[in-house]
This record gives sequence, structure tokens and C-alpha cells, in this order.
Amino acid sequence: MSAAVSPGAGGCCYEVGAEVIEALAGAGVPVERCVLPGRGASAPRPRVDLKQAIHALLLAAGVPAARIELAAECTICGGGRFHSYRRGGAGVGRMSGLIGIRGR
Ligand SMILES: [Zn+2]
Repeated sequence: MSAAVSPGAGGCCYEVGAEVIEALAGAGVPVERCVLPGRGASAPRPRVDLKQAIHALLLAAGVPAARIELAAECTICGGGRFHSYRRGGAGVGRMSGLIGIRGR
């Protein structure tokens, strides 16, 4: 199995509340590796690196690290190349993905 994690909200921007961190911990995410501190008075809430959280869950599920690819782009600060609810609110577009099995 291989896994590719698409662009998404990055740890650089994805601020969350304690309830999100609790939910991630409950799902088995190693929050000590995926939760980043807030950036001070203007952005005091902790941030989550969702791609690292997904990476950890994939490893725990047995997917070899060499077969996991993480997109580097953050959809919030990535320059508008991607839709972002956090950046643009409810009126922005949505992203979608496609998963398939290659025939032989
Ligand atoms: Zn960002």
C-alpha cells in the first residue's frame, strides 16, 4: 500500500482548541509530535500539523514510511492555489480527491 496526503491546513496555520487535541489523542495520534505551540498574543491557540498526524497513523497501520508522501503545501497560507475554509470562509470552493487501484 502507498499513501499520498494532499495539500491541507498546515501546522504553520491550523489553530485548534483543546477539544481537537483531545479528539486526536483519543484517535491514537501522538499529539506530542503533532501539536505545536501558539505564536504568542496574536495567535495564542495551539496549532496541529495534520499531515504529521496522518503520517503517524499510517505508520501505526503498517504503511512503510518510504511509501508515504506528504504534500508540503498549506492551503491556508499557500498563496491561494487551493480552496481553504479557514482562509476564505464558507463561500469558498471545496477540494476533492480521487483514489484508485491501478489495473495490471
Ligand atoms: Zn500555513
